[in-house]
Amino acid sequence: MPKMYVIGNWKMHGSKITNCRLIEGILSKLPILTKVDVAICPPFPYLQQTSDKLFRRPILLGAQDLSCAKEGAYTGEVSGDMLRDLKTRFVLVGHSERRAMHNESDQVVANKFAAALEADLIPVLCVGETLEQREAGHAEQVIAEQVSAVINAVGVEALSKGIIAYEPVWAIGSGKTATPLQAQHIHAFIRGLVREHNEAIGSDLSILYGGSVNADNAATLFGQPDINGGLIGGASLKADSFVSICLAAN
Ligand code: PEP
Repeated sequence: MPKMYVIGNWKMHGSKITNCRLIEGILSKLPILTKVDVAICPPFPYLQQTSDKLFRRPILLGAQDLSCAKEGAYTGEVSGDMLRDLKTRFVLVGHSERRAMHNESDQVVANKFAAALEADLIPVLCVGETLEQREAGHAEQVIAEQVSAVINAVGVEALSKGIIAYEPVWAIGSGKTATPLQAQHIHAFIRGLVREHNEAIGSDLSILYGGSVNADNAATLFGQPDINGGLIGGASLKADSFVSICLAAN
């Protein structure tokens, strides 16, 4: 059975003061969950602060990106080992904002996935099509290429140590959520693709949905057979909404 996750992606939001309030708000409202692992991914400068606040608490720490390289002359980059040093467990790779704004190719994303595993982090591989690609009927092909690049680079056994997040680019931050059926269709497609390589790995792989998930639509989305939780942007910045989404996954 795939494990359920709810992962908050704070993107480039927050300050020491607002982070403190948000983390305390979430911790005070979140009961012990039995079925879902919860994580939050603050911006790099706040990883230490968040790590300290989450110490011995039931929320795990994630990061939004990492370098392909292990160490060296890579100004501005952050390595997997550095993230691990701060007790980070998860790391997003290939978020659509990084693919679009930082020209991260499928190959670079695959290298980041491998770097995350090497640092003993759980990579969350983000995949998804743009509106143009969907309207042209290319959604499945784009997603197949994004997933296959990682399988070709690291192998399907290594893929099984990570998580996939399906995030249609047109649904991110737009308020336009994929319908539960649209999302389920792509999730089943991704699972089928992985099953072609290895039946058991495909069946057990956690595939999260991301794209304007909120407290009102989370339960219906997470009720789909191949949706195993969510990657949450905007709604993870409000304690009440984030906690409701976590409860919907449990
Ligand atoms: C995201 O950026 O990963 C995301 C899903 O954002 P939002 O929930 O705001 O659409």
